[in-house]
Amino acid sequence: MPLNQSTLKAVIFDLDDTLYDHLHSARFGLQQLARRYPAMESVSIQELEDRYSDALEAVHLRLLSGEVDQQEARTIRMQQLFSSFCISVDDDTAFAEYRQFRADYDSVCQVVAGSHELLSCLMERGYQLAIMTNNLVSEQIPKLRQLDLEQYFDVVSISEDVGVAKPHPKIFEVTLERLGLHRHEVVMVGDSLASDIAGAIGVGMPTVWLDRRPDLKRSSPSEVTEIVSGDLRETTKCVDAILRAHARR
Ligand SMILES: [Mg+2]
Repeated sequence: MPLNQSTLKAVIFDLDDTLYDHLHSARFGLQQLARRYPAMESVSIQELEDRYSDALEAVHLRLLSGEVDQQEARTIRMQQLFSSFCISVDDDTAFAEYRQFRADYDSVCQVVAGSHELLSCLMERGYQLAIMTNNLVSEQIPKLRQLDLEQYFDVVSISEDVGVAKPHPKIFEVTLERLGLHRHEVVMVGDSLASDIAGAIGVGMPTVWLDRRPDLKRSSPSEVTEIVSGDLRETTKCVDAILRAHARR
């Protein structure tokens, strides 16, 4: 089938673990935390990452509903992680631990390999680029700036600002509105099957799944049109996957 490039207008990227190497930063921050709380060393680093990720997602929904503010969300996130190890900490300690975790996290920030090359290549080809990410504005904008990623993007949609998180269709619709485009004119690239891929499929948007952990041998839903494994280092392969995903829409 010939690749139909004519109507692809924009590529929408997730941020954490698609362009920003969140796995690397979170792992370092959690390893430092576990050195201060040895009970956390009783589980594998993968298990610790999963518990942190669960706490992050659960509290983020409470933040979006207006039940808690940013500082409370960060405090509760850490308390929830601690409580999964039967460690009880007061609010001040939990927030102080969040700040230390965050400093450690930021100290090792890096992009997913190949991000700058891929974004430059897509920009040179004339595509609009957008970010669609679940988290706080005050956490995501500094990440874009730290890694010099902000320059590529015409639109940045952050769940805190939109009021709902992926996979809710509204954040996809708001991003399309901001781009001034139709769902058939874009491709969504993301690492999360539950948020990025399921959400995009739900609104009829073609997808490229970045499988950051091919070693886990996870299967993807049949609607996923293209898969890129590991990172974004192979620019040409990534661009081809985006074009094929769009052509098959
Ligand atoms: Mg992600």
